Amino acid sequence: MNNETTYLCIGCPLGCRLEVEEDAAGAIVEVRGFACKRGKEYAIQEHTAPQRTVATTVAVRNSSWARLPVRSSAPVPKDAVVEICRRLHAVETTAPVQMGQVIVANVLGTGADMIATRDMPLA
Ligand code: SF4
Repeated sequence: MNNETTYLCIGCPLGCRLEVEEDAAGAIVEVRGFACKRGKEYAIQEHTAPQRTVATTVAVRNSSWARLPVRSSAPVPKDAVVEICRRLHAVETTAPVQMGQVIVANVLGTGADMIATRDMPLA
């Protein structure tokens, strides 16, 4: 018997309801509900190897602000997000920081860098 899993496409405000049908061996046999190619690709990605962009903060010294907002330069495996956040909790950087500056390269070996999303001047 085949299994069906549904996802909400986040590719645009239409929010198509995507359906992925797989056979008993776990092979995808059909994808339905997408209104464009991007949605079909998203459904397959989300079903087989879901990814997320990480957005959080790290500690920063010598600034008026205690935390620097950072995000991943590319989506990372969803399974790695919690561990990445745990590691970033121990990271401390030093002002001045420029927006786009790499704070942690190749975070957790994912190939994505954690980059600053704003300037952080000296206090
Ligand atoms: S399938 Fe295409 S049209 Fe539908 S929500 Fe996704 S990106 Fe938008």
